[in-house]
Amino acid sequence: MFEFTEEQRMIRETVRKLGVEKLGPRASEVDKSGEFPWDIVKILGENGILQLPLPEKYGGIGADTTTSCMVSEELARFCTTSSNLLCIQASNIKVISLGGNESQRDRFFQRLGKENQITAFALTEPGAGSDVGAMKTRAVRCGDFYILNGTKCFISGGAVADILPLFAMTDPAKGLKGGVSAFVLEKGAPGFKIGKTEEKMGSRGVPASELVLEDAQIPIENLLGKEGEGLKIALGAINLTRLTVGSHGLGIAQGALDYAIEYAKQRVQFGKPIAAFQGIQFKIADMAMQLEAARSLLYRVAFMSDQGVPDIEGFSSMAKCLASEISVNVCLDAVKILGGYGYMKDYPQERRMRDAMSCLFMEGTGEIQRQNIARFLLKKS
Ligand SMILES: Cc1cc2nc3c(=O)[nH]c(=O)nc-3n(C[C@H](O)[C@H](O)[C@H](O)COP(=O)(O)OP(=O)(O)OC[C@H]3O[C@@H](n4cnc5c(N)ncnc54)[C@H](O)[C@@H]3O)c2cc1C
Repeated sequence: MFEFTEEQRMIRETVRKLGVEKLGPRASEVDKSGEFPWDIVKILGENGILQLPLPEKYGGIGADTTTSCMVSEELARFCTTSSNLLCIQASNIKVISLGGNESQRDRFFQRLGKENQITAFALTEPGAGSDVGAMKTRAVRCGDFYILNGTKCFISGGAVADILPLFAMTDPAKGLKGGVSAFVLEKGAPGFKIGKTEEKMGSRGVPASELVLEDAQIPIENLLGKEGEGLKIALGAINLTRLTVGSHGLGIAQGALDYAIEYAKQRVQFGKPIAAFQGIQFKIADMAMQLEAARSLLYRVAFMSDQGVPDIEGFSSMAKCLASEISVNVCLDAVKILGGYGYMKDYPQERRMRDAMSCLFMEGTGEIQRQNIARFLLKKS
């Protein structure tokens, strides 16, 4: 049976304390203002959370997938923004670890380790969401630079990030089979500007923005791997990215369940706390069962990933899909347990429900995950 190690449990305790004392109390304000909370970045940086996935020599602990999931889950119980930032950071550190050479890792990881810089992952385009192969952003080598033209959209943290792994077509004729390359776009690159920032339903602390590339210049030293290896690099990180989004969803839902239980013990109707009614008890039991089931699957797959078990993409899709859908179901029930108060912005449940919904889309929708799962099973049989 899977269990966290002593070290992981200690990390979780530290994160929980930070969540209760510093991050949780900011969550509602961040949601209301929709402004990017630099103070949260500072807290996460000072406490080494954003650096956790970095190798030790850059100030991290080389957190594996299991640890990254555990921390993102714990953060999300209190503050979706904090968890979201860690998920993004872990994905991009993985992308640079897999695709980058030593000098690139050194260059970017030093900045992430020492300067609290943050990252964003730029894949989606207006015409290429689920269908990554429809990507139009084009990169053409021109001397010591690649010149990029195109638009990315919905990029979490894109408007505030310093280091942005970005995917573009270097050979459209090859498409997904060797035509996509991975780059690191840096804030301030000539020809790169931030376009529209979306007004989002939830997860409002991390802006989702358009990145506009008009003859943008990326030096050739920022090509990750070789030309054409972009998809391979992205897929190399996919188990981690799906699982951290899943654990993010679980944490949001756990926070909602914790709150609903406390509320049910306090709220009196018909002369009794509503927790005394079987209707409410069954709801709480169902929420907990669903969460435990999704959590068991998710950490099992994270553990498989850390053990280097091959071909687990079908499992990571299952874990991400189940965790994100259960997160939404549990948050909806958590709203219901508060009755009309659950619908009001003075209480945190409606925010959690909106936040949970973002997990349905990040790292691919439920339909796309189901497609992956079916493809995996059909291939196997
Ligand atoms: C909050 C948020 C944050 C995000 N952050 C990032 C980010 O940081 N970086 C990034 O690159 N992207 C990001 N995205 C984009 C996200 O990855 C895409 O939204 C997602 O992959 C779906 O693409 P789409 O929105 O274009 O939907 P579409 O692909 O247009 O899908 C529309 C609908 O059609 C369904 N569908 C599509 N194809 C099929 C099919 N073959 N079979 C059955 N159904 C299908 C989908 O499941 C969906 O229901 C983010 C999105 C959100 C909402």
